Amino acid sequence: MSTLSGPFINGEFLTQTSQSHAVINPATEDVICEVAQGGKNEIDLAVAAAKDASKGEWSSFDGRQRQNCLLELASLIDSHVGEIAMLETENTGKTLFESSKIEIPLVAEIFRYFAGFATKTHGTTTSNPNSLRLTLREPVGVCGLIVPWNFPLLMAAWKIAPALAFGNTVVVKPSELTPLSLLKLAELSLKTKIPKGVLNIVPGLGSIAGAALVSHPDVDKISFTGSTRVGEEIMKACAKPMKRVTLELGGKSPNIIFEDANLKAAIRGAYSGIFYNKGEVCAAGSRLLVQKSIYNQVIEELSKMASECTLGDPKDKSTRMGPVISKIQLDRVMSYIDQGKKEGAAIKAGGEMLNRKGFFVKPTVFADVDAKMKIAQEEIFGPVLAVIPFDDENHAIQIANDNIYGLAAGVWTKDIKKALRVAKGVKSGTVWVNTYNLYDPDQSFGGTKSSGFGRELGSAALEQYTELKSLWIDLT
Ligand code: NAP
Ligand code: MG
Repeated sequence: MSTLSGPFINGEFLTQTSQSHAVINPATEDVICEVAQGGKNEIDLAVAAAKDASKGEWSSFDGRQRQNCLLELASLIDSHVGEIAMLETENTGKTLFESSKIEIPLVAEIFRYFAGFATKTHGTTTSNPNSLRLTLREPVGVCGLIVPWNFPLLMAAWKIAPALAFGNTVVVKPSELTPLSLLKLAELSLKTKIPKGVLNIVPGLGSIAGAALVSHPDVDKISFTGSTRVGEEIMKACAKPMKRVTLELGGKSPNIIFEDANLKAAIRGAYSGIFYNKGEVCAAGSRLLVQKSIYNQVIEELSKMASECTLGDPKDKSTRMGPVISKIQLDRVMSYIDQGKKEGAAIKAGGEMLNRKGFFVKPTVFADVDAKMKIAQEEIFGPVLAVIPFDDENHAIQIANDNIYGLAAGVWTKDIKKALRVAKGVKSGTVWVNTYNLYDPDQSFGGTKSSGFGRELGSAALEQYTELKSLWIDLT
């Protein structure tokens, strides 16, 4: 594991810095390993490496060469799925099924998808008798990529793959809680033709390494995924030098079930919509809006499913839900559960921790939730569902929009016109109809309102990681 023990800068691992941080397995509370933390010094070194690399060999690569680099990386991820998934599971507490069957394979797909883009990035041509006009897509330059702990490698891949496809160089700052899978990616990158300095990974504290990256004058763009609070700070810090910035922030996404829905599918979707990855999903359907006529039935069936969920070692095949990420997060989730009780909501499932080592919270279902309660308004980022009754379509849309966030939403009904009216009426970056929590490299994702702005994945990534240059040629 030695290569996973510190910052990866200019193609080399630093195994010692002025500080180290113990990386914890949240299922056991054991230390997995110590990782040397980057501070301002390491960020300076990494940004200098990325800047040099952006002018070096990498700048002479054509699209095909960049495509090949990303395809090489995708193949290496494929051939190391088991190892990477195990690291991700040990470090985050997500089940091995989630990491090995869903997330890490998706990481490889994202690199493959953007590999294709590297050879298909076109500008436009227009002309009139007097001039010929072209647009060129140029790399933004050095991109600082800051990612959270819930999907450490996947969120990073959303950013690294397009950034490299379009010719940028990057410095990635993982959460100090979850650097391991990204350091593994760094190790794999050494087996590809990606030149040194193009991909740099600096684990460290947000307030130190993250802040140093954001304020570094040689960083041309920041792409951040994390909380709205930190996103606001980053936006302010980027204002002065007019640094490009993309913010993927929090959510409190409404998942809306109408009485005419396929209830079996809707309940399954509501369940995985909130409890996938222990609710540590920015787009988690944490507000379940249910039409009054079916409210009790939905609560009953969901609560039964939640009560039967097997919590435990995420490496165990029979486990359906692992621990939340940290003691801090455990306390935060439990304090929201207390808050919900105080506000008068009724616990129908869960509501407590497991009496064992590790940060386990039972999947929790709150009924009798008023849309104004804190548990219905604030992002908990854990396995806690607030189920809110509604009367009709307009009422559902009104509740759905009565929130500072606007990341995602779900609507369940057999009436296609109603589904489309609701999809149009809800203000959010994504709306799923008769499904939830689906992602594909070709479908853009991002927020409205306090969930941030800018879109990742799909062709929208082109806007995030290139600058458009207009070229005029006089023909007279
Ligand atoms: P966070 O505290 O905002 O941290 C996110 C990242 O930013 C971490 O790497 C963090 O480092 C770093 N950071 C913290 N303070 C910083 C600063 N002043 N300057 C620069 N970087 C800084 O969020 P989190 O607790 O890791 O993740 C949970 C949040 O992420 C939730 O609110 C969730 O909704 C959001 N999220 C959004 C999406 C999306 O796509 N919209 C996806 C996933 C998660 P440290 O780890 O050292 O604090
Ligand atoms: Mg944090």
